[in-house]
Amino acid sequence: MGSSATKAMAVGVIRRLRTAGHEALLAGGCVRDMLLGHRPADYDVATSATPRQVKRLFGHVLMVGAKFGVAMVIINRRTVEVTTFRSDLSYSDGRRPDGVKFVTAREDAQRRDFTINGMFYDPICEKVIDYVGGKADLAGGVICAIGDPKRRFAEDYLRMLRAVRFSGRFGFRIDRATAEAIGRNAGRITRISGERIREELEKMCARKTAAASLKQLHKLGLLETILPELFDRPGLWATSLRRAEAVARRCDVLLTLAAILCDLPVKDIRRIIRRWGGSNDLRNSLVWLREHIDDWRTAHEMSLAEFKRILAHRDFRRLKVLWRIEELLFPGGKRRYLAIRRRIKRIDPKQIAPPPLVTGKDLKRMGVAEGPMFGRILRALYDAQLNEEITNRRDALKLARGFVDMSR
Ligand code: ATP
Ligand code: MG
Repeated sequence: MGSSATKAMAVGVIRRLRTAGHEALLAGGCVRDMLLGHRPADYDVATSATPRQVKRLFGHVLMVGAKFGVAMVIINRRTVEVTTFRSDLSYSDGRRPDGVKFVTAREDAQRRDFTINGMFYDPICEKVIDYVGGKADLAGGVICAIGDPKRRFAEDYLRMLRAVRFSGRFGFRIDRATAEAIGRNAGRITRISGERIREELEKMCARKTAAASLKQLHKLGLLETILPELFDRPGLWATSLRRAEAVARRCDVLLTLAAILCDLPVKDIRRIIRRWGGSNDLRNSLVWLREHIDDWRTAHEMSLAEFKRILAHRDFRRLKVLWRIEELLFPGGKRRYLAIRRRIKRIDPKQIAPPPLVTGKDLKRMGVAEGPMFGRILRALYDAQLNEEITNRRDALKLARGFVDMSR
């Protein structure tokens, strides 16, 4: 979060640049957020100084994207991004400009995506500098592309997702021409990388407004391109949306993604996460939630061991939320959910994942060789412990010996 200290630092950087004879202003998202009365996530500085000139003025500067005019000034471990006023040359890959030209503030505003993101603020004279009509759109609650929307989206298709994200986040409508251009280009969203698509979706799913954003993605034709799997079967998308609506207020990205995807076959979930360049962690969590979502029907009567293994999982809290929603989606679910809750309450938290009474070391001492049988015996012993059939080491060892004899 951008603290007041980060803001003070950005203002300090601006003063310093001005003293050296350059123009310098706060720019983009932070100006929008300040005008909305929100606390900006970070404060970006835009300046007429080139990255090299910035480097000369400040002690510690990372030249993170000097070619694109971006320098990172670091003071007392805090960072401020300082970007030279620039105009982007052509976008041959629909992602990054092939090059940039250093220009005036007025021209810099033209390369930004939406009018509400295209303003500057002079923190010393306390004046908003608005070359693109951003103030009016902020007041009117409109997301409107700067310049010709068709051309702006063709330069960078990610902007289509950004439009939806900002619209959801602020509850703004998308301007007609901008929305039409998105509708016409929706099929091309896959020209940007899966990682960038996932990052935008994750940002949408981290807000209370996630379901509204999904609805809008659908309305604009983007969702069918991003997640065609949701339209393989009638009714799938409608249920996903209802689940997403039910969990969105928790602002939990993983839970919201699970709500959207948990009716799909596991192989589809794996493919989607691969397509999105998502982590193994993300994939494993989503697959586990998918594999256990239907357990709400049987959880009140499954074996204690099986139940405890579910309880012990790092994503159980999320699974429980999903179970609760299933109860609301399906008639007759409520009684089962109450039974599950009672069952959870009866379990001593220390007995959910207790240290095993018998370990591999013990089995080796009994002469069991490592192999599939070894693992099976250990698991059976731990199941017996979780089922509370054995509660002390003596009984556990006795049972172990029994298993070992049987296996010979
Ligand atoms: P957030 O609060 O989500 O960070 P932001 O507006 O600050 O919102 P950033 O991605 O941090 O968004 O970008 C900072 C600014 O850079 C934007 O306000 C916008 O002016 C410009 N910008 C960012 N991404 C693009 C893009 N894909 N195309 C054009 N301009 C962009
Ligand atoms: Mg930002």
